[in-house]
Amino acid sequence: MRQITCAIVDSYDAVKFLDEAKECVDYKNAKTVLVNIFTKRVQKDYISYISSLIKSKLPKAKISGLTCLEGFALGENFKGSTIITFLCFKSSDIEVLEYDFSKISIEEAKSSFLSSIKKYPELKGIQVYMTPLANAVTNDFMPLDDFDKKDIPIFGAGAAFGSREDDKKIYVFGNGIYEDGIVITLFSGEKLGIYAESTLGWTPIGKEMVVTDVENNNVLKTIDNISASEIYKKYLGVNSAKFFLENTCEFPFMLRRGDKWVARVPIQKDEDGNIHFTADIQKGEKLLFSYGSKNIILKQAFNLADYMSRKNLEGLLLHVCRTRRLYLKDTEHLELQAFSNFYRETAGCYAFSELLYKNKSGGLQNSALVAVGFREFENAEEKIYSDDCYVENVFYGTSNYNDFNKWVAELTQNKKDNQLLPFEERLVNFLHATTRDLYLANIKLEEAATIDGLTKIFNRKKISERISYELKKRDSKNIHLIMFDIDNFKHINDTYGHDMGDEVLVKIAQTAKQCIRKQDSIGRWGGEEFMILLPESAEEVAVAVAERIRTEIYSLKWEKMNQISISLGVAGIEENDDIQSFYKRVDNRLYFAKTHGKNRVIFKDE
Ligand code: GH3
Ligand code: MG
Ligand code: MG
Repeated sequence: MRQITCAIVDSYDAVKFLDEAKECVDYKNAKTVLVNIFTKRVQKDYISYISSLIKSKLPKAKISGLTCLEGFALGENFKGSTIITFLCFKSSDIEVLEYDFSKISIEEAKSSFLSSIKKYPELKGIQVYMTPLANAVTNDFMPLDDFDKKDIPIFGAGAAFGSREDDKKIYVFGNGIYEDGIVITLFSGEKLGIYAESTLGWTPIGKEMVVTDVENNNVLKTIDNISASEIYKKYLGVNSAKFFLENTCEFPFMLRRGDKWVARVPIQKDEDGNIHFTADIQKGEKLLFSYGSKNIILKQAFNLADYMSRKNLEGLLLHVCRTRRLYLKDTEHLELQAFSNFYRETAGCYAFSELLYKNKSGGLQNSALVAVGFREFENAEEKIYSDDCYVENVFYGTSNYNDFNKWVAELTQNKKDNQLLPFEERLVNFLHATTRDLYLANIKLEEAATIDGLTKIFNRKKISERISYELKKRDSKNIHLIMFDIDNFKHINDTYGHDMGDEVLVKIAQTAKQCIRKQDSIGRWGGEEFMILLPESAEEVAVAVAERIRTEIYSLKWEKMNQISISLGVAGIEENDDIQSFYKRVDNRLYFAKTHGKNRVIFKDE
C-alpha cells in the first residue's frame, strides 16, 4: 500500500494534486482507496465541492473526513486549509459507514455497525470520526460486547471548529455531511497490519479523588462530594468562568481506563459551577490532577515515534489534541516532525478529542496524540502484531520513580551544573516528589486499615467489603465462602503460651493463603477464625480448596506440638441470599464440623 498526502490552499491546488494522484501507479493498482480529509474550512459548500471533485476525478476513492483546528501534511512541513491524504491499499478492503443522529437512533446505528463488522473476519482496525454531539455515542459503540475480536483498535478523533471565529460549526463527512454524526471506516485484510498507539505525557499529581456526581457522562458536578468548580478553585485558584479553559488546560484530570491513563480537559464552566468536558467521565471513577512538563511530553512522543519508525509503515495518520498545541507552543512542531522524519506522507489534524480503544483499555482521550500506522505485508503469514508492544511510561506511584529521576537527569544533563534550573522545572520536580510521598503514605494508611497486624492477611472489615462487593455484582452465580476455625486452640495457648499461639495463627493463615487463587481473598474473621471468598468457582472447586487447606494445615510439622487441625464450613450463594443469610449458612456448617468430630469439611446442611 501507499499513502499520498497533500495540503491544499485553493481549488487550483486541489485539481492539480488530484490529477497527479489519478495517474499515480499506487492509485491505479489499488484495490481500495480511502481519502481522509482534514479541513479547517467549515463551510458545507466547500466540503461538498472538495468531495465531489475527488469523486469525479478518482472514482475508486471512499471519503471520510472532519473539520478541525488545523490539518497537517508533514512532508512538506506545511499546513494548508485542507489536508487530503489517500491510503491506497493493494489487497485490503475498506467500508465507510455513516450515521446521522438527527435521523436515526443510537440503537439503530449500533446494530447496523455490529452487523457490518461481522462481514469482515479479517477486520484489523476501525477509524471513527465524530462530532462532539456524537461523542457520547462512541462510548456506546466501544465496549463491543457482542463482538469477540476485542484486540482490534478503534481510533480516530472528535471534529473541531475551524480556526475562524465567525463560523463555529463542526462537521464530519463521508458521502454526506453531518452536524451530529459519526463516520466510521472499517479496514479489513488478511495481509493488513494496523498499529494504533497513543501518547499523553502528562504526569498525575496530588491526591486521588472520586467522581461523586456527573450528568450525561460529561458534565462534572461533584468530586469527593465537593462542587467541581470548588475543586478547581481549591487546587488551582481558578475561579472565573471567562478564561476557565486557558487557566485549566495545563492541568487536565487523569483517570485509568483499563491499562491506560487517559486525560480529561475541561471546556467550560457553567453558571451552576458544573464543569463540561468533551469526553466522558463516569460516576465512581477515581481521578487526579496532572501537569505537563514540556520535556517529558516531547520525550514520550519521541518514544512513540521511535516505536512506529521500526514498523516499516506504508501509511501514518496522527490525531492530535489541540491542548498539546496550546501547551507546547513553539515546540509543537517537534513532536510532529518526529513522525514525518521517518514517514514523509504522514498526515493528521488537531482535534477536540482523540480516540484509541483496544484490548479493553483507553477510549476517548484528551491531550493525547493518537498515531495509526498501516502496512500491507507480502503474505499473511508475516507476523502482523509483533510482541514488542508500546507501553507509555506514566510516572505515578512507586514502580517507575527511578525512571522518572533518570529521565529528569537526562533531560537536564546538557544544562551546566552551575546553571540555575528554571523555576518551572524545580516546581515540577517538587510536585512529583510530593505526589510520590503522598502515594506511599496512602499505601501505608490503606494497609493499616485493611491488613491484620498479626497474620498480614485482610482484616474482617476488608474481607467483608470484598464479599459485599461480589454480592452486589452478582454477575457470578458461583460465589463461595469457606470459613474455618482452629481446633482446640485454647489448649495450645494454655500449654505452650500465647506467643506460640500467635505463631500458629501466622503459620496457618499463610498456609491457607497459599492454597487459594489470585482472584480469591482470605481474611481473619476474629481470634482464630478465618473467612475465604472464592468469587468464581464451582462447588466442587470450593470443596476441593477447603479439603486442601485442611490437609495442608494438618500436615504442618511443629517443633513441640502434635498436629494441629482445623474445622471448615463451605457455602455457595443461593437465590434469595443476603449477606447475613450467606454468612449464617457457612457459619452453621462450620459449627456442624466442630460438633461432629472436628478436622473436617462440611459443605451441605446436615
Ligand atoms: P474449638 O476446637 O471448639 O474451636 O476449641 P477452641 O479451643 O479453639 O475454642 P475457641 O474457639 O473458643 O478458642 C479461641 C481461643 O483463641 C480463645 C482465645 O484466647 C484465643 N485467641 C484469640 N485471638 C488470639 C490471638 O490473637 N492470639 C492467641 N495466641 N490466641 C488468641
Ligand atoms: Mg477454635
Ligand atoms: Mg473460635
